[in-house]
Amino acid sequence: MNFLKEIENLKEVKNAIILAHYYQPGEIQEIADYVGDSYYLSKIAQQSPAQFIVFCGVEFMVESAKILSPDKRVFWGNTDSNCKMVDEFHDEELIELMELHQDAAVVSYVNSSTRIKTMSYTCCTSSSAVPTVKSIENKKIIFVPDKNLGSYVAEQCPEKEIILGKGKCYVHDNVKAEEVLKLIELNPGALVLTHPECQKEVRDISDYIGSTGNILNYAIKSDKESFIIVTEMGITHILGKKCPEKKFYFPKMICGGMKRTTIEDVYRCLNYEENEILLPEDVIEKAALALSNMIRLGEKR
Ligand code: SF4
Repeated sequence: MNFLKEIENLKEVKNAIILAHYYQPGEIQEIADYVGDSYYLSKIAQQSPAQFIVFCGVEFMVESAKILSPDKRVFWGNTDSNCKMVDEFHDEELIELMELHQDAAVVSYVNSSTRIKTMSYTCCTSSSAVPTVKSIENKKIIFVPDKNLGSYVAEQCPEKEIILGKGKCYVHDNVKAEEVLKLIELNPGALVLTHPECQKEVRDISDYIGSTGNILNYAIKSDKESFIIVTEMGITHILGKKCPEKKFYFPKMICGGMKRTTIEDVYRCLNYEENEILLPEDVIEKAALALSNMIRLGEKR
């Protein structure tokens, strides 16, 4: 069967769109109508007139899209695509922090479970974390789950008292400063662009710190020729397309959960309507508050 042709036909018949995160395999990015980070894709899901959405990404992204667009049918490309940061940070840890710091506002990184979102005042993305925390009145902020992004926020917001969760992204947290220094030595003149989910020792030797989307924009707009990119390597696909004349070097950073989706999975979602996301109404309602605050505060920037 020619899955690509079938997917095109099914999209038309069902008025469907395919969304893919930057970390998805290149062939999935190629068949997607929109490629971006989780914030961009959730907004597309919300704004698109399409009522049938196949989202190729990890669970929290697909659920966030459903929460923001509860009347649409949202399908998860591959249900084994999990985010380890989400899996490793549990509700009980947040409940404990909330009990200990009752005067704190809870800000959860969008890379968190839906249950964590229902307990949060607002969510944030890696690009909106700092302005979001600054915009909240409380001096004390519980920031979960990512301790690295949280420590970056604490550095940028010295006026706040930031209580950190203990979560981390194994892909970004595993990169060591020595690896990056080695790449700098091998590629003199290359700018180091780093995601804030990396450890402080790596951030401290970087030229620029930003979300995946911001790293991409920075590399595209820069008049420099070469870059050391310290985030998940799926971004090479779009970097290669947008700036084929530039050179990019990476430490080995691959998110296993993000690489599970296949073309056949997308076909199965479209044809057999497999893997539809269904969430209880009360959960949607509560989590929607934190996600709507994320969009509202994000747009105030
Ligand atoms: S790269 Fe890290 S934070 Fe992103 S989906 Fe993979 S495990 Fe989760």
